[in-house]
Amino acid sequence: MTTAPATTATTPSAAEAAGPYQHYVYAYPHKSAYRRLPERPTLTSLWAAEDKSALSLYLHIPFCEVRCGFCNLFTRIGAPEGLTGAYLDALERQAGAVREALGEGEDIRFATAAFGGGTPTFLTAPELERLCDIAESRMGARLDAIPLSVEASPATATADRLAVLADRGATRLSLGVQSFVEAEARAAVRPQRRADVEAALARIREARIPVLNIDLIYGIDGQTEETWLHSLDAALAWAPEELYLYPLYVRPLTGLDRHRAASGPARDPAWDAQRLRLYRAGRDHLLARGYTQQSMRMFRRADAPPQGADDYACQTDGMIGLGCGARSYTSALHYSFDYAVGMHAIRGIIDDYVATEDFTRAEVGHRMDADEARRRHLLQSLLQAEGLVESDYQARFGQAPAEDFGSALDVLADRGWLAAADGRLRLTPEGLAHSDAVGPLLFSPAVRAAMAAYERK
Ligand code: SF4
Repeated sequence: MTTAPATTATTPSAAEAAGPYQHYVYAYPHKSAYRRLPERPTLTSLWAAEDKSALSLYLHIPFCEVRCGFCNLFTRIGAPEGLTGAYLDALERQAGAVREALGEGEDIRFATAAFGGGTPTFLTAPELERLCDIAESRMGARLDAIPLSVEASPATATADRLAVLADRGATRLSLGVQSFVEAEARAAVRPQRRADVEAALARIREARIPVLNIDLIYGIDGQTEETWLHSLDAALAWAPEELYLYPLYVRPLTGLDRHRAASGPARDPAWDAQRLRLYRAGRDHLLARGYTQQSMRMFRRADAPPQGADDYACQTDGMIGLGCGARSYTSALHYSFDYAVGMHAIRGIIDDYVATEDFTRAEVGHRMDADEARRRHLLQSLLQAEGLVESDYQARFGQAPAEDFGSALDVLADRGWLAAADGRLRLTPEGLAHSDAVGPLLFSPAVRAAMAAYERK
């Protein structure tokens, strides 16, 4: 018998006061809720009873040419001579240990793979070959037979690297552009020339990777509705299969945060209003041009080839992350390595990772009990436009979502952000617009407390 989760501790008025841009929930719980695991469980014990028939494989490359002003991802600028090679050596050692921990058997299968970062294409073409070799021969992933997504930047999306990725089975290339307006790119501390971005897009199309995704940001200083739509149209000229529209955040310890700390308050209602306005303009622009909305950030061209693995469900299936910024998920534990945003701490963690010989244990993580599993299922479903299938939830957890989260769901419905129809709970258009306020409403008190107590470094 399972117990119903405790209801959220955030009051509606407190959530409202925090505004629409609180937290981007791309994974729950966030790494700032992870802590050292004193018992250092062995990977063998963690994976022994897991379903391994449809795993996701993620390889993390924590290197970039520049540190964008808005970025709080785990990545460092540049790499001294030999570091990328030493990092791949460590990645290979880790892959060997993880694969051994998964055990032998025909039921171990990767259904999807991704190279993220950082900027995976910071690696040279031969290094990318090696990365693919690690995924295939060390981990046993069939890169040519499953969806493989890779992130890139304009300067590193070179023809030789793209050729390797296309040849090894990449099905999706995601390019961080952020803005086609040079002054806005500078304001976001990601200086780049428009001509270089266009040339990179041409190379990607020539490489014939089936799905092109372009990332854009709204809410940049000086950005207007006109310049925002100009950037969208510049992206649309490439008919990307996917577009991600990100609201700008100024997060602690990032370049923009250091700049703003001297000049303004953390919460700015006028900026919130600008971001909401630009979001709605961007959304409507794409919907009118044949794109469907998948989530607050993601839009897909209606005729684009399907991307996800047929049989991988992010709510339930396990993930193997390799690399020092990658997470791994079993049903009972989410784990990773230490997390930091500041450059000094990141360098130290990467150096420690590169020197590690023993990858057989989980070091840092968050235990997933029945309550957290329910919240994760709810969050990861609700924040998608297709919403939560109530019967799926009932089948997995033995009771209806309203029995577990009635008061929080009532708050969302009262605000006009949530509606029930056809056996699904879905965010309304305004609910999707406020996804980054919806997510935190559903965090557990324990996760919220751990995130609040996290010491930034
Ligand atoms: S946004 Fe992307 S390219 Fe920029 S620093 Fe972060 S990971 Fe690197």
